[in-house]
Amino acid sequence: MTKSILIVEDETDIMKLIDWHLQSEGYLTFNAPEGAKGLDIAEKKNPDLIVLDLILPGMDGLEVCKSLKRNSKTQHIPVVMLTAKGEEVDRIVGFELGADDYIVKPFSPRELILRIRAILRRNETEPAEETLLRYHDLHIDLESYRVWLKDDEIGLTVTEFNLLLELIQNKGKVRTRDQLLDRVWGYQFDGYARTVDTHIRRLRQKIGPYAESIETVRGIGYRFKEA
Ligand code: CA
Repeated sequence: MTKSILIVEDETDIMKLIDWHLQSEGYLTFNAPEGAKGLDIAEKKNPDLIVLDLILPGMDGLEVCKSLKRNSKTQHIPVVMLTAKGEEVDRIVGFELGADDYIVKPFSPRELILRIRAILRRNETEPAEETLLRYHDLHIDLESYRVWLKDDEIGLTVTEFNLLLELIQNKGKVRTRDQLLDRVWGYQFDGYARTVDTHIRRLRQKIGPYAESIETVRGIGYRFKEA
């Protein structure tokens, strides 16, 4: 899916330069020559990232950044600040203002693109909190069907994902093979209990350090450890 980027910059030449490079990388761009306009576009267009110049006429970049982070509609959007003033860097980097990164002018467009890509990638692997189920450092995104162990994504099949989810959502309780078949596969059939065992074995391999968290309850089924 095409990512969109809002550029808030009053200097026309720099704006055009950034705009050209972002477009040639396949990003959709929005331009704002001053802060208030930038806030307006951010709210209406919900871009994936904002490149924000520090020195702007009227409302400066720091104020714009603060407003973005205060507004529930825009606070999730990562901000890369452009700055020429070394003394402001500490405040920006201190995340006092909520900027996700900064780049000092003069910069190479290449460097800016690399930073932007890194931030967008980082955001892709950090799904919204409300759809996230956590078990220590095992993170399960219920919306995208993806699972992370610390920062590394574990590639699970849909069946393995559903199996893990069923066990974790019922942690501390024994799930019989029949229950798992019913919940995960949607059918019960004698002889298919072995299917559960096979999938559990693969799931354990994939979740590495948590393999032991899936306990075998002999003759009955499986239980995900409470803690
Ligand atoms: Ca400027």
